[in-house]
Amino acid sequence: MKRIAFYGGSFDPPHIGHLTIARKLIDLFALDEFVFIPAFHAPHKKNRKPTSAFHRFAMLSAATNKEQKIKVSTAELDAPEKPFTIETQTRLKNEMPDAQIFFVIGADSWVEITTWREWKSVLMLTNIIVITRPDYEIGFSHVTEEIKSRIADLRNKGQEESEDIRLKTKDQKIYITDVVNLDVSATEIRRRIRDDDGGWRKFVPGEVANYIKKYELYI
Ligand code: ATP
Repeated sequence: MKRIAFYGGSFDPPHIGHLTIARKLIDLFALDEFVFIPAFHAPHKKNRKPTSAFHRFAMLSAATNKEQKIKVSTAELDAPEKPFTIETQTRLKNEMPDAQIFFVIGADSWVEITTWREWKSVLMLTNIIVITRPDYEIGFSHVTEEIKSRIADLRNKGQEESEDIRLKTKDQKIYITDVVNLDVSATEIRRRIRDDDGGWRKFVPGEVANYIKKYELYI
């Protein structure tokens, strides 16, 4: 059975946090494929006009070009009238009924998950992987008992122990992992570029830094 993870976001721009998450999860969850899904626009981030989807797609492609297992999907760009995760998730699940599907979200998304359209279904429809992020406490009081019962907490567990837990669980799960805990955000990168602080380059892959410079993004 093919094991495939999907990771949605605005990726404005994609940064080393996103790429590290992809690489580490491929190992930890023995994934065959890891797929970034850039949002046409992020439905939760209405306060700022996002960079053109074409630029965001191109930056993700450049950043992942050499990685065999990491792909970029046009699923949400092809269906801009259906911007919600539940719709993308349902579509992908129907398209690949035989795959074991994981949806990846960051700790900040977990904290505000109850604001997502049909959030309970989002958490039940496929496996979920929640990635810790500095400054975001992962609590459980905001979710239902049924959802709580699906949580497999892999924090403070090594690769072997995590694999054990993962292999033993047959049902769909919500995995919490601290395999990546990087203090990097797209907002901070955009701010540094605006402020002409050259330090932003270390937070993005080289190909993305070149692209941002070439097309004069975020200035
Ligand atoms: P912004 O600062 O614009 O909100 P971001 O850095 O959070 O951007 P997004 O494109 O919004 O990046 O991220 C997509 C997904 O990745 C979200 O679920 C977010 O929680 C998660 N994510 C982003 N950066 C990290 C990180 N450093 N650690 C864990 N999760 C992250």
